Amino acid sequence: MPLTRETPLTDLPGVGPARGKKLEKLGLRTLGDTLNHLPQRYEDRRECCALQDAPQDRPCCVSALVAETPRISYVRRGLSLVKVKAVDGTGTVYITFFNQDYIREVMRAGESYVFYGVVERQGNLFAMTNPVFEREGAARFTGLIMPVYPLTAGISNNLLAGLTRRAVDECLDGLPEVLPAQVRKAHKLCQTQFARKNIHYPADFEELAIARRRLVFEELFVLTCGLAQLKDRRSAGKGRTLESAPEDFAALLPFAPTGAQRRAMEDIAADLRSGKAMNRLVQGDVGSGKTAVAAFGAWTAAKNGVQCALMAPTELLAEQHARTMEALLAPAGVRAALLTGSVKGTEKKALLAALARGEIDLLVGTHALFSQGVEYRDLGLVIADEQHRFGVAQRAALAEKGGAVPPHVLVMSATPIPRTLALIIYGDLDVSIMDELPPGRTPVSTFTVGEDKRQRMYGFVRKQVGEGRQVYIVCPSVEENSGGWEDGPGMDLKAVTAYARQLQEQVFPDLRVGFVHGKLKSKDKEAVMAAFAGGTLDVLVSTTVIEVGVDVPNASLMIIENADRFGLSQLHQLRGRVGRGKHQSWCVLVSSSRGETARERLKALCATTDGFQIAEEDLRLRGPGDFFGKRQHGLPQLKVADFAADLELLKEARAAAEELIAADPELKKPSHRLLKRRVRELFEENAELFN
Ligand code: ADP
Ligand code: MG
Repeated sequence: MPLTRETPLTDLPGVGPARGKKLEKLGLRTLGDTLNHLPQRYEDRRECCALQDAPQDRPCCVSALVAETPRISYVRRGLSLVKVKAVDGTGTVYITFFNQDYIREVMRAGESYVFYGVVERQGNLFAMTNPVFEREGAARFTGLIMPVYPLTAGISNNLLAGLTRRAVDECLDGLPEVLPAQVRKAHKLCQTQFARKNIHYPADFEELAIARRRLVFEELFVLTCGLAQLKDRRSAGKGRTLESAPEDFAALLPFAPTGAQRRAMEDIAADLRSGKAMNRLVQGDVGSGKTAVAAFGAWTAAKNGVQCALMAPTELLAEQHARTMEALLAPAGVRAALLTGSVKGTEKKALLAALARGEIDLLVGTHALFSQGVEYRDLGLVIADEQHRFGVAQRAALAEKGGAVPPHVLVMSATPIPRTLALIIYGDLDVSIMDELPPGRTPVSTFTVGEDKRQRMYGFVRKQVGEGRQVYIVCPSVEENSGGWEDGPGMDLKAVTAYARQLQEQVFPDLRVGFVHGKLKSKDKEAVMAAFAGGTLDVLVSTTVIEVGVDVPNASLMIIENADRFGLSQLHQLRGRVGRGKHQSWCVLVSSSRGETARERLKALCATTDGFQIAEEDLRLRGPGDFFGKRQHGLPQLKVADFAADLELLKEARAAAEELIAADPELKKPSHRLLKRRVRELFEENAELFN
C-alpha cells in the first residue's frame, strides 16, 4: 500500500497503539498531520570533519569506523555506560553513552558510522559523549539541517523526524494549494509543496527562510481573511438609525472637547446615523479623554430612545464611570444605573425589572451586564471601555443581545495594544485614533530609585501633600486580578495590608492614608475611592485595581513598589493615573533589582510617555503570549507566525486578504473553496460565525 496523507500513523513501522496514543496528544493521527507539526528550531548538522580538524566549541559530524565491540559497565543503580572506540584516518575517538544500553546491541565492530556531537580533545586522544549516530550513508539524522520538534513524553525527536521525513518524501504530491495563484504571484510566495518540504528539511537556511515566509503569510492570510469577512458582514448588517449632534452634547461638558475628541464623536455620529451597525474602536493614550466620547455615545442612545450598556473591566472603574456619567448626563435627563457582581437580592431584582421596562437608559457595569437574566428592553449601543481583551468572540456574542437588530458596538481601547496586535484583534473594526491630550498637561516625569532613597521619597510625598496634592502608592499583589496581566510573584495581600498600616502608623501618622485592593467589598472600595476623589484622603495605598481608568486629577505623584515585577505597558497604564490635571506630576519606580534587563526596561519607561512605543517594546520583550495571557484575546492560536517579528508580512497578508474578500465576500469562487474551509477551521471555536 502506498502511503498517503490519510495513512494512520499506526500503520507505520515503529508506531504501535501506545505510541499512536501519544502522537495523538500532539494532534497527530495521520501522516498528513505530521506535515503541519512544525519544527521549533533546527540543528545544523551539515558540517563533517576529520577528528583532527574537529572544532572544539560546537558539534559536528565525524565519520568513523567502530573498532571494537561496545562494552557496558554498570556504575551504580540507574547509571550504566556504554563505551566504544572508533577510528578515522586521523585519530581515535573514545565514545561514551550514558544509560543507552541498547547501543551495545545495535552498534557493530567493523562498521562505519557518522557521529554528531562535540569532539573533545585530550592530548592526542579524542572523546565524544552521547553523540547522535547512524550508519554511514543513512543521512537521516546527520549531514543535514535537522528539525527539532515539539515533543511529548515517550515520543523522541528521531521518531517524529522519521515520520515527517516519510510524509515529505511520499505525500507531498497533490497537496492542495490554499493560496490563490494571483496572491502567490503578487507576493512572491513559493508553492505549498516546496514550503512544506523545506520547513521540515531545508537544504540550507535560505530555503528555510523562503519556506517560512510562505507559511507565515499563509497563516496570517487565512486569519485576516476571516477577520475581513467578519468586518464585511458586520458592515453589511443593519443597525438602528440614531441621530445626534456632537455640538449639542459638547454643551454638557465642563470643558471644550479637544480636536481628537471632536473627530471621534463625528465618526461615531456618522456611524450611528448610517443605518448600518457601528463597530468602532476608539484608541487613544491614557488621559486623552475617552470617557467624554463614551458619554457622547450614551447620550445619543438615550436621546433616540434606545438603551446603552457601558462595560468596564473592574468594579472600581464601573463605579467611577457610573458617578461620572450620572454627573454629566443626569442634567440631560439620562437615567443611569450601576450593575456589578455586588449588586444582589431585591436591589438587583428591582434594577433588572426597571431595565426590562426601559426605565433605565444607561446601564454601567462589569461583564455582569451581559450575564444571564439581564434583559434589555431595547439595547441599541454597547460600549466597552478599556477592554483590551474584548475580542472578536465577545463582540460576536454581544450581537445576540440586541434582538432582531444587533446593537452598535463602540470599543474604547486601553492604549497598550501594539499596532501589530491591534491590527489582528481589532482587525474587524473601524478605528478612530485620539492622538491629542487635553490642553495644559505636562508630561509625567518618571524616574527609578533604589531602596537607599526611600526616606527621601517619603519626604517628597509629604511635600506634595503639603502643596495640596494627592499621592498613590501601588504594590504588586498576587491576589489581584489586575485585568489580564501576569504580575509574577507579588506581595501577598497580607503583606500589602501590613505595608499600608505601617505607612499610616509609622511613616505618615499625620496624613490621611487610605487603602484599596480587589478583595475589598465593593461598597468599601467605592467609599475609599470616593474619599480619595473627594480629597479627604491624602495618600491612597493600592494594588493594581487602579490600573485602568481611575481619574483623580488632583493626584500628582505615583509611587510604584517593586516596579520590576510589572510589565511595561502596565506601568504605563498605572502612571496614567497621574498627570491628568494641571499640576506637574511624578512617577517613581522603586526597584531594588540589580538585574540588567530589569533596569533596561524601567529606563525605557523613564525615557518616553508614548504608550504605543512602550507597548511595542513590551511586546518585543515579553512576546504576545504573555502580553495577553493565554488565548485571552479570543483569537486562534498561531503556529508559525510571530506577531512581534512578522509585522511587515502581517500587513501584506492583511492587504491581500481585504482585497480578496472585497472581490469575493463569501469565498464562493471554486478556487477559494479550500481557503474558505481553512478559515472556518482556524476559527473553529467560533465556527458558527463562518457558516
Ligand atoms: P482616558 O482617555 O484615559 O479614559 P479620561 O476620559 O479619564 O481619559 O480623561 C482624563 C481627564 O481629562 C479627566 O479628568 C477628564 O475630565 C479630563 N478631560 C477630558 N477631556 C478634556 C478636555 N477636552 N479638556 C480638559 N480636560 C479634559
Ligand atoms: Mg478611561
